[in-house]
Amino acid sequence: MSTERSPSEFEIIERYFRGGGARRADVRIGVGDDAAILGCPAGMELAAATDTLVEGAHFPRGSPPASIGHRALAVNLSDLAAMGARPAWALLALTLPRAEPSWLAEFAAGLAALARSHEVALVGGDTTRGPLTVTVQLLGHVPKSTALLRSGARAGDHLFVSGTPGDAAAGLALEQGRLAASEPAASYLRERFLYPTPRVALGECLRRYASACIDVSDGLLGDAAKLARASGCGVEIAYEELPVSEALEQSVGAERSRELALTGGDDYELCFSARPALAAKLLAELPPQRWGYRRIGTLRAQPGACVLRAGQTMSVPDAGYDHFAAP
Ligand code: ADP
Ligand code: MG
Repeated sequence: MSTERSPSEFEIIERYFRGGGARRADVRIGVGDDAAILGCPAGMELAAATDTLVEGAHFPRGSPPASIGHRALAVNLSDLAAMGARPAWALLALTLPRAEPSWLAEFAAGLAALARSHEVALVGGDTTRGPLTVTVQLLGHVPKSTALLRSGARAGDHLFVSGTPGDAAAGLALEQGRLAASEPAASYLRERFLYPTPRVALGECLRRYASACIDVSDGLLGDAAKLARASGCGVEIAYEELPVSEALEQSVGAERSRELALTGGDDYELCFSARPALAAKLLAELPPQRWGYRRIGTLRAQPGACVLRAGQTMSVPDAGYDHFAAP
């Protein structure tokens, strides 16, 4: 606990957030006036996303402040990545129960480090008192009419996913003491929850190859189903093709690791489709080993999402997270 006097709202903004993130020439007016004024490049469309993290719902009470700052931006970077957009500017609406300097410094550092690594400038926000809630709004651009949508897939397209979904769900379970695992697997899984890697560069490259894209935040099977539904088709996922990390399999076993890969949340990976002809080009030009993605299934005419295991349809418990679902 710090003995320093609590900073005022004005001091919080000046000390921790003004000039946060990257410096960008297209920020004409940033933090300090009533609104930010930003120069939008010709030929581009704006991509805008916002996501809120509530303590106790989206991260456990007492999470490392740097992780909360990182995740608040990462979840939005992931949304822009799914559209194939390049992020540029962020706004931060922060509600805090108290102004604790060490907490604020670590939170701001976590957010700023990820912002700088994606050339995102923090251009404004709002600071209020209340239960810990962090909302980031992220703006970026994408060349006119080229954004990746959920609705562009059709039957026969190949389905892919980046990364190793399920890791973050296990990491959260470890953080909450619902799971025990040995090192170094436990640290790796915790990191995947606390500091997810939004696939921004992959998303931008996919504009040339993918027919549809969604980011995996609520569980791979549920999010793949959303992509398929938006595209007016269904999807089948091959159980044997699910990419599962060694750390996850070691920690929860072969069966549970696949279940988590299908239904765990907080991965912030990309799930995308490509026409068969372009899929060959995709695999050749963006080597999967280097870009970290894998083919896991196929879009089909029959609606709904299913998992095929040894050629048989498999039933999967608990598909996707819904905040308002009955317990
Ligand atoms: P106003 O009352 O006119 O909305 P504020 O006092 O809320 O102004 O904010 C002053 C300036 O600081 C504005 O430019 C606003 O965008 C910025 N700001 C406020 N809170 C934050 C924050 N948490 N992060 C970044 N910028 C912030
Ligand atoms: Mg304001």
